[in-house]
Amino acid sequence: MASRSVDEPGSCAGGRILVIGAGVSGLTSALCLRRKGFEITVVADQFAPRVTSVVAGALWEWPPAVCGHHQDQVSLDRSKVWCKTSYEIFADLACDPATGVFLRPVTFYFQHPISDDEWQRKKVEEVRGEVQQFKHDPKLISENGINPRLGYRDAYSYLAPMIDTDAYMRWLLGEAQKAGCQIIESQVTGSLREQESSLKRQYGVDAIVNCTGLGAGELTGDVVSPLRGALIRLRNDGQTMPRITQAHCVSHDGSGEGRGFIFIVPRGADMLVLGGLAEPDESNLDIGLHNYEPIREMYQRCLEFLPILSGATIDAAEPVRVGLRPVRLQNVRLEREPGTRIVHNYGHGGSGVTFSWGCSFEVAERVAHLLAEG
Ligand SMILES: Cc1cc2nc3c(=O)[nH]c(=O)nc-3n(C[C@H](O)[C@H](O)[C@H](O)COP(=O)(O)OP(=O)(O)OC[C@H]3O[C@@H](n4cnc5c(N)ncnc54)[C@H](O)[C@@H]3O)c2cc1C
Repeated sequence: MASRSVDEPGSCAGGRILVIGAGVSGLTSALCLRRKGFEITVVADQFAPRVTSVVAGALWEWPPAVCGHHQDQVSLDRSKVWCKTSYEIFADLACDPATGVFLRPVTFYFQHPISDDEWQRKKVEEVRGEVQQFKHDPKLISENGINPRLGYRDAYSYLAPMIDTDAYMRWLLGEAQKAGCQIIESQVTGSLREQESSLKRQYGVDAIVNCTGLGAGELTGDVVSPLRGALIRLRNDGQTMPRITQAHCVSHDGSGEGRGFIFIVPRGADMLVLGGLAEPDESNLDIGLHNYEPIREMYQRCLEFLPILSGATIDAAEPVRVGLRPVRLQNVRLEREPGTRIVHNYGHGGSGVTFSWGCSFEVAERVAHLLAEG
């Protein structure tokens, strides 16, 4: 049974908070703060669908995710706590189709037996206790129709949240509005620290929560860099290929062996997204199948990996979505800016959806704590 709930009753009253950002981090933080009893104003210069959170492949993954690495142990340990909380909440949300959250099997594949790799073995030991329907079995490779010529030798699977971000971001905004959060379209410019007092006066708030993703660099002076990704969108309505109802992944590290990573994830009722691109410090969004070879290679890699995709039809309306993961060297920044009433929640890299509920509960607790200090 879930120990945390999306409807957790408010445990603290009073206090007005400005949340900057309306991606998955900002809206989830707003909701958690509101449900703790705070008055909330959300300010953002972009809303869905023009936020990275809508681009996300939005597969819940135990850290580190297939597209990335963690630079330090503290951040990895904190990420695991956030992941656990999010899993519980997403599993609850999956009971309501309006949320766009689905619980579906995901399988991770490896070129070598997991037992040969101490690091992967440890990861498997951790994740198996945190998820539903965990299974470690090399037979998954043939059962799932993975190309035998590629030489995969081991695999494990579990039930994971997979999120249709179009529906989910709409749902999140709706929940925030229903809960009474005020939503304002506006840009904040310059140093947050320097303008803390004026922002608090302008919006009539007692504290500020910074959920600006890639935009946090400008507001904090921190280095937040783009890690460009792209997802090819296929029709998954059972017409030109059998409907794919589970996700398939190969990580960047270990078994990836320089081929890039594989990311095949069903989205909503009738879409499938294919990924496997992580390009540091690239921010041009004008790339697609028509003009960018690495995206065509990524497509070929997925078709070769899962031959059943050869009958696929690419979504004509939106063949490819491109976005910039907000990456920091030290991973997520979730902390109070020293000497201020600003709490940061940014830099989630390729895991912002996965971490969203865990981070947001922690944000709400930190804000409650700092206001209680006076
Ligand atoms: C191709 C791709 C695949 C991905 N796959 C996954 C996945 O499978 N699982 C997963 O968990 N994550 C995945 N991610 C990562 C995920 O998308 C991000 O980590 C997450 O969306 C970050 O959310 P955010 O709310 O912090 O930022 P954003 O969604 O970028 O939102 C930032 C918000 O801040 C606002 N803002 C910024 N600056 C200012 C300012 N100065 N003034 C006012 N407002 C401002 C913006 O307008 C926006 O509203 C993927 C990303 C990409 C690109």
